[in-house]
Amino acid sequence: MALPDQLNPALRDLPVYKPGRPLREVALEIGSSPEHLVKLASNENPLGPSMRAVMAMQNVAAEMHRYPDGNAFDLRQCLAKKLDVQPDNLVFGNGSNEILEFVAHALLKPGDDVVVSQYCFAMYPIITKMMGANVIEVPAKEYGHDLPAMLKAITPETRIVFVANPNNPTGTIAQDRDIKQLIAEMPPDVLLVIDQAYFEYGEDTLDLLPLVCSGDHPNLILMRTFSKIYALAGLRVGYGIGHPEFIGALEKVRQPFNLNAMAQAAAVAATNDQLHIETSRDQNRKSSIYFGTSFKRAGIRHLRSAANFILVYVEDGARVTAELMQLGIIVRAMDVYGLPEWIRVTLGSDMENRRFHQAILQVLDHPED
Ligand SMILES: *Cc1c(COP(=O)(O)O)cnc(C)c1O
Repeated sequence: MALPDQLNPALRDLPVYKPGRPLREVALEIGSSPEHLVKLASNENPLGPSMRAVMAMQNVAAEMHRYPDGNAFDLRQCLAKKLDVQPDNLVFGNGSNEILEFVAHALLKPGDDVVVSQYCFAMYPIITKMMGANVIEVPAKEYGHDLPAMLKAITPETRIVFVANPNNPTGTIAQDRDIKQLIAEMPPDVLLVIDQAYFEYGEDTLDLLPLVCSGDHPNLILMRTFSKIYALAGLRVGYGIGHPEFIGALEKVRQPFNLNAMAQAAAVAATNDQLHIETSRDQNRKSSIYFGTSFKRAGIRHLRSAANFILVYVEDGARVTAELMQLGIIVRAMDVYGLPEWIRVTLGSDMENRRFHQAILQVLDHPED
């Protein structure tokens, strides 16, 4: 028997997550240079990181012979203060994707069930299948999560329910009362993960932190990230906010130095740069209005989004993605999400938005508006 036959059977049909393509690679392929490309494929913040974060990284660069603080003391204190939670409500991951993995390791074994929605974030099924557990996919309702149906889909074998709110890739957000009902009616032996990667873009989003801190919902964990509004995707910092008891279990799964020292320093600085966060939110709001009105004018169907990206109906997402790429615009085709007629476009800078808009009109053969 060869080594491939010895692989963990859970890996057999496991797809590899396909990230947005790096600028340099695309530039090489279309014979352009990275500066001329517009990357709107990975929901990154077009403003770039806070200068305070950049300076914090420069300040610690000469200390990189030291191991990082395994407990992320400074970041934990500063985030706990900002969120008004206790330090032991927090667990840090190498991106919030790593928190997903902690949760899976802590709870899942072969044969268990995990409930997700149709059009959910691609990592949930991947992590579930990696553990040999089964995915129960609940049909979406108007492209969003049907939370009452997800509650009903819970089986005796269900260990986790994943809900991204807002959801990626659809940008949909659940009604507050559905979220509250879901939390209230979750069986106590099932973990509810509410992934709030785009929380900070929300205008007056339901605040679930008091519920977490009340201690009455030990089976609820929120996930947030420094990859989106905080503009530090390259550093990989995410965190979970939950009951200290469950957080303690996740700490057993976590590698001691999963959060590197530069990332910790930058995340502290970014947390404290409220102006950068406000500016990023303003830019996103402005882009959202620009896309909304220009799509409406051109008669291009799209979903209303509560995040920093937008799902756009183009009939043939693969073709349009390829043609946009030839024009130097990188977006994300959605066939892997079961949405082959759509593309996902990150809201960019004003210049990037305009270039995307011109290109999409050209590709869809719309008269210039
Ligand atoms: C971008 C995103 C994340 C964040 O991933 P990181 O690992 O923190 O970069 C998590 N969940 C969803 C739904 C996302 O879209």
